[in-house]
Amino acid sequence: MNNQSVLYDCAIIGGGLAGLSLSIQLAQKGHQVILFEKNKYPFHKVCGEYISLESWDFLNSLGLSLKQLSLPIIDTIHVSAQNGFIIKSPLDLGGFGISRFSLDDLLFNKAKELGVTVLVGTKFLDAILQDDIYNITTQSNTYQAKLVCGSFGKINPPFIAQKNATEKGKYIGVKYHIKTDLPANIIELHNFKNGYCGVSKVDNETFCLCYLTTTKNLRLHQNDIKRMEENILYQNPYLKKYFTESTFLFEKPVVISQISFEKKQAYNHGIIMLGDSAGAIAPLCGNGMSIAMLSSKILANHVCLFLNDEISKDELINNYSNEWNRNFSNRIKIAYYLQHLFGKRLTTLWSLKLLNHFPKLFKKIISLTHGKKF
Ligand SMILES: Cc1cc2nc3c(=O)[nH]c(=O)nc-3n(C[C@H](O)[C@H](O)[C@H](O)COP(=O)(O)OP(=O)(O)OC[C@H]3O[C@@H](n4cnc5c(N)ncnc54)[C@H](O)[C@@H]3O)c2cc1C
Repeated sequence: MNNQSVLYDCAIIGGGLAGLSLSIQLAQKGHQVILFEKNKYPFHKVCGEYISLESWDFLNSLGLSLKQLSLPIIDTIHVSAQNGFIIKSPLDLGGFGISRFSLDDLLFNKAKELGVTVLVGTKFLDAILQDDIYNITTQSNTYQAKLVCGSFGKINPPFIAQKNATEKGKYIGVKYHIKTDLPANIIELHNFKNGYCGVSKVDNETFCLCYLTTTKNLRLHQNDIKRMEENILYQNPYLKKYFTESTFLFEKPVVISQISFEKKQAYNHGIIMLGDSAGAIAPLCGNGMSIAMLSSKILANHVCLFLNDEISKDELINNYSNEWNRNFSNRIKIAYYLQHLFGKRLTTLWSLKLLNHFPKLFKKIISLTHGKKF
């Protein structure tokens, strides 16, 4: 079916935090926006669900009333090595907990309220630029827009050239919601062989338990998640306690595979990228969601200038790419190298022992991966 009667100002691929926030900001400025999301809200997503307080004001500016949700505010971090050696530190800025099930749904409803055309259950297939107009194809329809922005997350769609990441560079993410008794102001990060697992409180008196490990770790356990958890994660006494003494609320975990932290580009295949599509930060920093939202704020400013005929499309792409690099390149690089200290029995243990003696260094490292309030 051809639906070419409307020329949208902007089409957005993927309704996670980056895409939904961009759609809301453009709609707030009176632009006509269409967003494609392959799933249907509300739905669960692999994510540690700890959001740095950097983005608190921003989310309120989109029209959410976070204060009314009585969310847990997190001001302390505990990190353990595989053998249970643990260090504790206050967090300078800290964060708050909210499930993606709730947060993405709140943003989806806000976008609809502001007149964004949100097509759920709709998979974007491709966009071809012809005479300054994009012809966009989904599995069931075609659309036209002046710009296409890609916020489809960590996994590149088939039309984006992908570096052949080796199995070594590939990760899986696994998430559960549980009932347990961790204080609401603490986030815990527990190491295990070839991975790490975060636990912290979210909304609805629930806790999120989410881990990242290598694809190889799972393959070595015949792709059996339960077996891998019992053999590997249980070696950390904190994780064994969570797995054996908590109430698990999902029948099966939410899982994402094929994650890699390869360098990406802010403009690719004619599409302007934001959020994880432009570059994903290692999750140990608990910062990917704030980066996704800040990238949408930066992009929204440049897109508005373009749509108001104040800059050309080339200027939009150049200015946005430069600002993206200035804001995020270093944070992503530091987190990538930090990730290599995690999930290794002795390296992690000795790094934690060192940081235990130099608490200011620990705080400094955390601050290098975080940004300022926006
Ligand atoms: C294990 C793990 C733990 C993490 N923990 C944290 C944490 O505690 N704190 C934090 O800040 N960050 C964390 N992150 C990172 C964070 O989840 C991401 O950075 C953030 O979700 C990025 O948002 P996004 O909008 O770019 O992508 P996403 O939230 O992934 O959204 C992308 C959307 O695009 C849709 N989509 C994809 N392809 C198509 C298509 N072809 N057509 C239509 N729709 C499509 C998807 O369904 C999805 O809804 C974690 C990541 C992992 C892997």
